[in-house]
Amino acid sequence: MPNSFIQNGVEYYQMFIGCPVCVMDGRPTRPTQWYHHVDGGEMYIGDNGYYYCIDCKKTMPVIDWAYVCADCEKAGHEKAVKIDNLKHVAETISVSGLVTAVAGMEWLVRITNALIKQQETHS
Ligand SMILES: [Zn+2]
Ligand SMILES: [Zn+2]
Repeated sequence: MPNSFIQNGVEYYQMFIGCPVCVMDGRPTRPTQWYHHVDGGEMYIGDNGYYYCIDCKKTMPVIDWAYVCADCEKAGHEKAVKIDNLKHVAETISVSGLVTAVAGMEWLVRITNALIKQQETHS
């Protein structure tokens, strides 16, 4: 069961999701725990649309995050990739198992709305 906590009204779950870049590229991907590349800390994802590192407490909007996994590297991505269209992240989250296991549909709606707002203010 992924861990969770609430901080300043934001509901965070362990970032146990597939790879959004693989989803974007059409590669199969399975949910795994993601870690902060800087310090190896476990990443969490909040319904405010921000990632959170449990070790260094750094937060970052989902739209600013870059992803790379072993399958991405095999497919030719040498560096971590930013996702311009957050629909790929939304899809990754919605099929990760988080919603069924712990987070629930209301959390999914809240994070989806947060991602829509990020997308609007970014473009
Ligand atoms: Zn960190
Ligand atoms: Zn990938």
